[in-house]
Amino acid sequence: MDRLEKILHQVDLPGRYIGGEVNSVRKSPEGVICRLVLAFPDLYEVGTSYLGFQILYQAVNREPDLWAERVFSPGLDMERELKQAGLELFSLESRTPLNRFDLVGFTRQHELNDLDILAMLKLGGIPPVAAHRTDDHPIVLLGGPGASHPEPIAPAVDAVFIGDADRTLVELARLVGSARRSGKTRGEILRMLAKMPGVYVPSLYRPVFTSGGAYQRLEPLEGAPEVIRRHLEPDLDVLDVPTSPVVPMVQAIHDRFTVEIQRGCSRGCRFCQAGMINRPTRQRSSGVVVDRIRKALKKTGHDDVSLLSLSAGDHPQLVPIVKALAESAGTGLAVSLPSLRAETLSSDVANAIAGLRKTGFTIAPEAGSARLRAVINKDLDEHDILTAAEKAFAAGWHLLKLYFMIGLPTETQQDRLELVELVGKVRRLLPRSGRARLHVGISTFVPKPHTPFQWEGMLGVDQIERIQSELRDRLRSVGRVKTGWTLPAMSVAEGMISRADRRLFPLLLELAERGHRLCSWTENFDEKAFAEVFERYERVTGGVLAERDIDKPLPWEHLDMGPDRQFLLAEREKALRAETTYDCLEGDCYVCGACQQEGAGPVRDLLPPSTNAVVHESDPMPRRYRLRLSKRGPARFLGHLDFMRQVTRALLRAGWPVLYSGGFHPKPKVSFGPALKVGLESLAEYLEVELDEGRAPGSQELEERLRKTLPEGVELLELVRCGHGQPSLSRQVRAIRYRLEFGGKANSKMLAEQLEQLKQRPAWPVERKGRRGTRTLDIRKAVSVLRPVDGDMAAVELEVDLSSGLSPRPEDVAELLGMELSSALKLELVFEPWRAEA
Ligand code: SF4
Repeated sequence: MDRLEKILHQVDLPGRYIGGEVNSVRKSPEGVICRLVLAFPDLYEVGTSYLGFQILYQAVNREPDLWAERVFSPGLDMERELKQAGLELFSLESRTPLNRFDLVGFTRQHELNDLDILAMLKLGGIPPVAAHRTDDHPIVLLGGPGASHPEPIAPAVDAVFIGDADRTLVELARLVGSARRSGKTRGEILRMLAKMPGVYVPSLYRPVFTSGGAYQRLEPLEGAPEVIRRHLEPDLDVLDVPTSPVVPMVQAIHDRFTVEIQRGCSRGCRFCQAGMINRPTRQRSSGVVVDRIRKALKKTGHDDVSLLSLSAGDHPQLVPIVKALAESAGTGLAVSLPSLRAETLSSDVANAIAGLRKTGFTIAPEAGSARLRAVINKDLDEHDILTAAEKAFAAGWHLLKLYFMIGLPTETQQDRLELVELVGKVRRLLPRSGRARLHVGISTFVPKPHTPFQWEGMLGVDQIERIQSELRDRLRSVGRVKTGWTLPAMSVAEGMISRADRRLFPLLLELAERGHRLCSWTENFDEKAFAEVFERYERVTGGVLAERDIDKPLPWEHLDMGPDRQFLLAEREKALRAETTYDCLEGDCYVCGACQQEGAGPVRDLLPPSTNAVVHESDPMPRRYRLRLSKRGPARFLGHLDFMRQVTRALLRAGWPVLYSGGFHPKPKVSFGPALKVGLESLAEYLEVELDEGRAPGSQELEERLRKTLPEGVELLELVRCGHGQPSLSRQVRAIRYRLEFGGKANSKMLAEQLEQLKQRPAWPVERKGRRGTRTLDIRKAVSVLRPVDGDMAAVELEVDLSSGLSPRPEDVAELLGMELSSALKLELVFEPWRAEA
């Protein structure tokens, strides 16, 4: 067993680290000019389905001369094990340490992930400070939404990419790869990068501060440009949709196929950074959307699709898209619209969605009063909110979520009282059915760079706690409402890092070196440590949470993300007068600055809606099939639920006509045999699946198709058609048979003696730890066979009788024999005999 394999047996969720997922890409390192690793500074289950990575992974890997791999932040247990074993953090595809790549590309999704960027660099054998790197180290690139205000983390990265990287990353990777191969120095490569559109090289800028410690400007060095413009892709239809996204090994937080139907939003919510930096609105035509979804479902086996946009209801072809997809609802397809604004939930959209599987419907009034909604430019009145709630319940949603913020500019006690009143009004619309629920999420306003509110002050921890406590009491009296709150100190940390300059970097480095990371997970967030560091930073810079002077420069203004300073200031003034600004998609352009780049237009000509609706089939003819699979190699580190998910998706990718259950949440009719402990290998993983016999090809073709789609380490060993009336798998399994081998000094003679002694013992006690403490079980009656395997090896065959309900494990038997278990293989399931009635 190699060092890594040993580690995988020790850590939680080892499936996070094994790679080999369906649609992941392996290439020969010799055949490419640039090896790039896409690095996500959070856990696998958070980052694996991140759309930005799926887009870039497919775009780069389509090029024969480039290879993109992936790496995620390891769990804290994995970090400990890697350090103890002297191993470096590695990529999932080829298990290559990060320091051997040409390019390491981090995405900055959240300010608190900065500590993970620093920790991952160090774990991967790369100095966390860019200035300490040599020519041999990779170029470290930063992208993602947080790249628009990167100063606190800038000294850790060699280059920052701002804007749409869909096509540009390919160019950038090629430039870095060929420059490194032709012997260019690090400095030469960085100067070449600085000439590319959308690339900012922090080491080519020197920060200047006043004698009083105020930020003054970034002084460009060596001819670097004073202002760097983001790169904008004006036409979504010419960009790739990742139709072969990697199918996660372990349950991802957003476990579905996502297609971006719209990028950018021109509604102009004044707190919303995503809306501002992604202007103008660009839309993907319905034909392209539906076509790509159909392709992706075949390649992934997903049965859940998310139509991504900052405001899905603004897409003029949303109804045809949803209708075309709803045609597939007979196959159990679920469609989610994560950001459908209340006022855009037309009856047409509600009706189109009515027959589909739904999660929750979200309305984000953000502020409780009409006045405050005008301040933030949320063009949503109370009537819109209540009508949307009514329509959502009528269309079959059972869960309604309302989102608000506290601490918005100009907010008063009256605004918060109106928030509670509004929740009460929505609450009164809840249907009487026991399933209907109302969730209210309340976060804290954080002033974000590049928005009209970038100059505003932010509440401190004490103020947030006081307001939260008061609102919590008032909302409790509304009844039947579940509330969710952001952690006050975490919001303040986000606010601090968001608007900080480079002087925060050494303090972040200090926190990372003290082991603080994965801090956006509440259980890892150390409030005291952050407060202490921020206090030191404030001593140098002055109040970071306080309102900023509009006449002073800001540490992100060298990055042009579209809307210009004049527009942002004008919007701020309108906010203070509670005046709204209309959506430029619905009226004239008011020249915010976003469309002055590369000929982007506010509205695209859209293609006609798709007409390739899915054809309805006649009534299905159900027939059950039983499959026997192996689970070996990397697949043995998959937990039972992840294994079930992987195999079910393989069936769907293979085009097997799997039947779905009825009801509100249709599920594929697939059932699996007993769970196997993570880490054990098996030749006997059984499942049964119900197919539509009328559409199923012959067994040989079913087998051939499935062999091509099963994940690595899983093989189809047997496929049989169940007889009519045959009991289900769970009712037919009687026992499990294993082969156990013992290591250390064990030999067959010693084993024979131990077996003899064990047989003399009247009871075979083993301990089981559970939630209610430790219990002792006598497993003797559950072991129906325990005999040595012929030959010189110290090995036994073990048969476990399931009717006892005790489920002895291979390691129990090894412990009773006093021998060291070196391997255990599940050989087969023993079934109750069954014969079809004549
Ligand atoms: S430049 Fe005009 S059309 Fe473009 S996003 Fe701004 S306001 Fe809208």
